[in-house]
Amino acid sequence: MTQTMLAAERHTEEKSAYAIAIRQLESAAHYLNLDRSMVEVLKHPRRELTVNFPVKMDDGSIRVFTGFRVHHNPARGPAKGGIRYHPETTLDETRALAMWMTWKCAVVNIPYSGAKGGVVCDPKRLSIHELENLTRRYITEISIMIGPESDIPAPDIGTNPQVMAWIMDTYSMHKGYTVPAVVTGKPVAIGGSEGRLEATGRGITVVAHEALQLVGSQLEGARVAIQGFGNVGSATAKLMHKAGAKVVAISDVRGGIYNPNGLDIPSLLHCAGRDGCIQAYRDAELVTNEQLLELPCDVLVPAALHGVITNENAERIQARVIVEGANGPVTPDADAILDERGVLVVPDILANAGGVIVSYFEWVQDLQAFFWEEDEVNNKLERAMRKSFQHVVQTAEQNRVDLRMGAYIIGVQRVAEATTIRGIYP
Ligand code: NAD
Repeated sequence: MTQTMLAAERHTEEKSAYAIAIRQLESAAHYLNLDRSMVEVLKHPRRELTVNFPVKMDDGSIRVFTGFRVHHNPARGPAKGGIRYHPETTLDETRALAMWMTWKCAVVNIPYSGAKGGVVCDPKRLSIHELENLTRRYITEISIMIGPESDIPAPDIGTNPQVMAWIMDTYSMHKGYTVPAVVTGKPVAIGGSEGRLEATGRGITVVAHEALQLVGSQLEGARVAIQGFGNVGSATAKLMHKAGAKVVAISDVRGGIYNPNGLDIPSLLHCAGRDGCIQAYRDAELVTNEQLLELPCDVLVPAALHGVITNENAERIQARVIVEGANGPVTPDADAILDERGVLVVPDILANAGGVIVSYFEWVQDLQAFFWEEDEVNNKLERAMRKSFQHVVQTAEQNRVDLRMGAYIIGVQRVAEATTIRGIYP
């Protein structure tokens, strides 16, 4: 194969999140000495559904949207995973995200398997009625897959507690009675959990603290750059700021801002999620999303999309620690470069697991109709994150691998073990 062909193949792989997910699984399988037939089982999503459905728009026209729902491996429990509304979401990406959910739930040892869903749309260009119509119809289309015992969706990019409320209501209307446990990330008023909104950011803050200690530093006074100012990015900024870190840069889809002396996070949080919020901030320099990743800082938290740190910019990353708030922001090629340069990467399947941990708590509370105080939720979450972090560090040290491979070894091993114990039906 020529150099050009190799480069083209690598470029295609870097563009395919699922190809990256398989490459990561293969590496873990190598360390675990997994049987080839087990790797084949784990590589393939168990179920995939593509739906094309009509939605009545405000102007009376009808538009057809495409959506997906994927279940990866069911060995450890019901399927669990977010729903993404984004114009560039694809089946390939949904498969990768479902597989990453399987490993994530296994790494933090909660009894779920991985799922993911998405609708190709730009929620910012839909009215609130159109968004509701789209959600209710999409959920109806995928209702053959979801349920409190089979598959429990949650928020992801472009979806929020209101969308989760419509999901709960739609499913309950079909059943004829209220089923809060069918979805997590709901508003507290209808069976959501205290602490869920900030859970992913809280988990990221815990592991950032642990990771900095590991490299002989501390969170207090550390300079933090965050890409993405949605649910994950804004909660991370809030909690890092509260913990005494200096948040020097944040961004959203339009671009970012940078002030080496720190940003006024409490005032920025007032307009988080609103178009132009970040860009209207006066006391900072405007930067692009690409520039933000390369700024001088101690901790970099990519909390927007996958595939943003690649072999093209990994050499220029200045952070000492990268905590993956988003799913899949660092490609395998970039991982190798960062590892060589001594940049510690806390992988997504550990770093952003706070969301699914509190989603699990929400599901348990809904099933029991017995609700916990916020302190109890936060303490249980922080304990679970710290314990999982230490386990990943130990596993990585024992196997002389980076933290990502340490996490994969734990996650893949637990899923392979469950698959083996259950056996192959019939
Ligand atoms: P969100 O929709 O609330 O926020 C996304 C943010 O990314 C927004 O600020 C948006 O402007 C920005 N963005 C969108 N496209 C961008 C682009 N091309 N370049 C730069 N910024 C862009 O989504 P979220 O729930 O905060 O999720 C962010 C990431 O975290 C995703 O990768 C998601 O899978 C992951 N994640 C989310 C949760 C959760 O609980 N919500 C849990 C685990 C992982």
